[in-house]
Amino acid sequence: MELLFAASEVAPFSKSGGLGDVAEALPAALVAAGDAVAVVSPRYGFIDAAWHGFTPCERAVRARGDATTVWSRRRGRLTHYLVEHDRFFGSRRGLYGEHGHEYGDNAERYAWFCRAALEVPAAFGHRPAVVHLNDWPTALAAWLLRHEHATDPALARARSVFTIHNLSYQGSFSKELMPALGLPWELFGPDGVEFHGRLNLMKAGLAYADAITTVSPTYAREITTPEGGAGLDGLLRARAGQLTGILNGIDASAWDPSSDPHLTAHFDTHHLAGKAACKRSLQEELGLPERADLPLLALVGRLADQKGIDLVLAALPELTRRDLQLAVLGSGRRDWEEALQQAARHHGSRLAVRIGFDEGLAHRIEAGADLFLMPSRFEPCGLNQLYSLRYGTVPVVRRVGGLADTVEDFDGWRNGTGFVFTDYEPRALLTAVRRGLELYRDKRAWHAMMRRGMALDHSWARSAERYRELYRGLTER
Ligand code: ADP
Repeated sequence: MELLFAASEVAPFSKSGGLGDVAEALPAALVAAGDAVAVVSPRYGFIDAAWHGFTPCERAVRARGDATTVWSRRRGRLTHYLVEHDRFFGSRRGLYGEHGHEYGDNAERYAWFCRAALEVPAAFGHRPAVVHLNDWPTALAAWLLRHEHATDPALARARSVFTIHNLSYQGSFSKELMPALGLPWELFGPDGVEFHGRLNLMKAGLAYADAITTVSPTYAREITTPEGGAGLDGLLRARAGQLTGILNGIDASAWDPSSDPHLTAHFDTHHLAGKAACKRSLQEELGLPERADLPLLALVGRLADQKGIDLVLAALPELTRRDLQLAVLGSGRRDWEEALQQAARHHGSRLAVRIGFDEGLAHRIEAGADLFLMPSRFEPCGLNQLYSLRYGTVPVVRRVGGLADTVEDFDGWRNGTGFVFTDYEPRALLTAVRRGLELYRDKRAWHAMMRRGMALDHSWARSAERYRELYRGLTER
């Protein structure tokens, strides 16, 4: 089957979070299963296309008058396209914003990208059976496909799939932008892109895609409830028949503790000694005392409301009183960045904080830590707990979304892969951590726990098969 996959970030070219990882790994898994996939993403200013093996194409695509150069890279049945637009992407150092502020023209930028992405099949000889769209930046393409490509021989028969990676980013803009985006006012209604008087680009995906997916079964249920639906639960309930939850996988070659190039030592289920070496070098790298006996807790992620950072901050006074170390890597809310750094200045021997985005350090933390904290308020799927499981770093997670689907609570005996808590309260987090610290003291039981997590298979092959079934169901109709 031929597919077009469009995303605003595709690792390793661009990435701000889990979407970039998925947009890298899912197409590759689909290709491994026998499909042909064209992946389209913007060429941001920081992407060195030539270095990544891209060459500029002779043919340009034209979206709303602006011709664009397209770079392509072909590896067997997997082709990547980067579309250029100097003003919208080439001149930007960030993806969606810089210095904690969103760019003011994100609606124009991604509406343009949607149109450019849909020009790619005709320009480069693809006839995708399915166009797979991801999150609000590509949502408008679901509507464009029906209204601007109804007679395009390359796309007229294509079905669309819209995947919600995170319902809380909806692409909400002033309705006054409708004409500038080339959208007719008929589209601005409750069944279209209107939401509380504003233009909501995600709604174009929810209302017009032939199928909707999200990244875990539990999140698929949660978003149809008023508590989890971010205002869109009514629409999602109305489309419940077309909504499925398919768990994300992980790129098992990039995240493999037995060969990870970011690590100084390697390990697997049968040889855990390398993990102790990784812990030692991580402590050294972070300026923490090199103590094998102290449990090392870690947190890597966006410092956003979703991630439960407020729980961690509230639990810090208690955590820093105990015999443990805590490493935090992340960036996001300024006040939280500052609060964490401030705490690290006070508790330097116990708490190490690195603000920023550092892929290598994220790998070394996963490898070197003993316990990994993910106390999320909500979590569509979450990848870090899956990396943790693979790296023998026992996850402490809240029972929400994909965390509930992937981490099994320790039963106090010999089952379970982590520590799970329910209430969104610092006490509940601390209780789960305390259970973890207790088990950590029993080395045999702890190693058994690590090994149960490490033995799980969260590679993409199985999830890709679920997507292929969905694509087949759509095209056979
Ligand atoms: P989300 O998509 O909500 O950010 P996920 O857990 O699904 O959360 O994916 C986060 C991805 O981004 C993981 O690959 C994680 O390692 C990476 N990541 C997040 N913050 C950082 C950071 N500061 N440095 C390096 N990698 C990070």
